Amino acid sequence: MSMTSFTVKSRLRNEMIDITHEVAQAVSQAGVQSGVCYLHVPHTTAAITINENADPDVRRDILSALARAFPQHGDYRHSEGNSDAHIKTSLVGSSVMVLIESGRLVLGTWQSIFFCEFDGPRTRKVHCKVMHS
Ligand code: ZN
Repeated sequence: MSMTSFTVKSRLRNEMIDITHEVAQAVSQAGVQSGVCYLHVPHTTAAITINENADPDVRRDILSALARAFPQHGDYRHSEGNSDAHIKTSLVGSSVMVLIESGRLVLGTWQSIFFCEFDGPRTRKVHCKVMHS
């Protein structure tokens, strides 16, 4: 089964964008009833995670905690000036896997899949591989 990709446009330097709908679309296009969806972000300053979608303050708190732990300007050597974004990306991670049952993503009631921008605004990519079991 082939890989699909979709584009995410961030508007801010640090931002968590709900991409659950785009992923569900890719799963439905693949026509897989039971399996897994593997998602990979091919960037070194953007990541992917699953977390709460109900209260937007959760996203705000995650981003502000990361900003407190890894400020944009600090004792870094990387000449591009975006070391905070590289560190956040490694901590949050570049891929997630979601189960598929009855053609739908298996997520908890309050869970969404979030693209995490740490050096925006930029146009980014998410790769998606749907496999049936
Ligand atoms: Zn860099």
